[in-house]
Amino acid sequence: MVRFTVLASGSKGNSTVVSGGRTRILVDAGLSCRELFRRMKQAGEDPASLDAIIITHEHQDHVNGLSVTARRLGIPVYFTEATHRAWMRWLTPRRQMTYAQWLEVCRKQAAERQAEPAVVAPETVTLKDSDSEDADDETQFESNASAESAAAPTDQTSDQDPSAPPSLKEDPTWLPAVEYFQAGEVFAIGDISLNPFTIPHDAADPVGFVFRAEGVRMGFATDLGYIPPNVREQLRNLDLLLLESNHDLEMLRDGPYPWSVKQRVLSRVGHLSNEATAEFLSTAYDGQAAYVILAHLSENNNLPELARVAAERALLGRASLLANRLLLAEQHQPLFGISF
Ligand SMILES: [Zn+2]
Ligand SMILES: [Zn+2]
Repeated sequence: MVRFTVLASGSKGNSTVVSGGRTRILVDAGLSCRELFRRMKQAGEDPASLDAIIITHEHQDHVNGLSVTARRLGIPVYFTEATHRAWMRWLTPRRQMTYAQWLEVCRKQAAERQAEPAVVAPETVTLKDSDSEDADDETQFESNASAESAAAPTDQTSDQDPSAPPSLKEDPTWLPAVEYFQAGEVFAIGDISLNPFTIPHDAADPVGFVFRAEGVRMGFATDLGYIPPNVREQLRNLDLLLLESNHDLEMLRDGPYPWSVKQRVLSRVGHLSNEATAEFLSTAYDGQAAYVILAHLSENNNLPELARVAAERALLGRASLLANRLLLAEQHQPLFGISF
């Protein structure tokens, strides 16, 4: 059986479980590990049965619980190489140091990592700011992250056992295994095939996916400023379509955000408005999916009813309207019970 479970969706955290055949994948890990596990259990999913985590992009609302979750389950994490590097840079604490100290750090890192090739480049000590999602409350992530660090089971063991992985404090970028994929190249994790495609968003190398399992095709695209032709092309012949419907244009324009943030959200590398999503659904979308799920709704600049009404109106003109069951993914509770 194929199952699609949205654990959380929105700028305070994103995570979805895709199950097909004997394989279960967590798409993004944007909530704390504890909360992810709580919601999985609530939705009837067993965290221990996850086979892998895949990451769409390095923004905090997509990776907040990543390290702890991957370590606790001992499962591989799939990124594009650029996203992995950006994530590592984000996690490396900002430090002020002299050039001599910096060289010393590079030398030590090189010596430590001689046995395991290709990991940390010297630029990890010179840092950029963490990328921010649309300005919906970001501070809570930091407190979550530090609470997670304190609770991490590996913290206690690393002193005694030299073969144990480094603690979160020693190396927050350490993961049980890292696998790279590339946009445009189909790959498989167990019984699920994944087709990653590039989306326009202000991250290092952001992607959406088409998942295929047991003949069921599920399209997944959030965090994109507009829908370019390559994305339109991917979102055809689907059984399920999960698409961002981030903000209502009027609410965003009249809302509390500073102008610079409004500009960013509205830009070609920001987020899809209800209006842009409706435009896609009424024109380029082929009307084939059994389920259409609106996702990544802003809590400050949108209302579920506005997103729903805009999409309903757009779908009204589609010949196969009855096939399109419209659902809204939520920030604070899982959306489950979707199976094929
Ligand atoms: Zn996001
Ligand atoms: Zn993002």
